[in-house]
Amino acid sequence: MTIILSEKSRIKLTGAHPDLAKVIERAAALSSIDFTVLEVTRTLARQKELVAKGASKTMKSRHLPGVDGKSRAVDIAPLDGGQVSWAWPLYHKLAVVIKQAAKEVGVPIEWGGDWRSFKDGPHWQLPWAQYP
Ligand SMILES: [Zn+2]
Repeated sequence: MTIILSEKSRIKLTGAHPDLAKVIERAAALSSIDFTVLEVTRTLARQKELVAKGASKTMKSRHLPGVDGKSRAVDIAPLDGGQVSWAWPLYHKLAVVIKQAAKEVGVPIEWGGDWRSFKDGPHWQLPWAQYP
């Protein structure tokens, strides 16, 4: 199965580290669940705002651009009937596809849904160790 990433999603992905973009493109090629890219690059001001609201827990977010100007995190949401879904079962299904895609392209990846304290279903990031 394959899904077609929207133009908006593609434009957002240009802000991501190329390895991360590669994973998401491969995931689109494998997926039978439609999904969209919610957010990639954040400004410092937006990150501060999210932390203040409690929507993010860190000022060391991987959404902030790295030294190369590229972000090491993407937020992705499954679509249900064309609408963004917040249903965990769908995130778990999509996670299987994204992990498979990462394996195929040989890029290590971390899912916010696997975090213990603050589960973040849409969040995917490159590990700090391999991608400072
Ligand atoms: Zn995120």
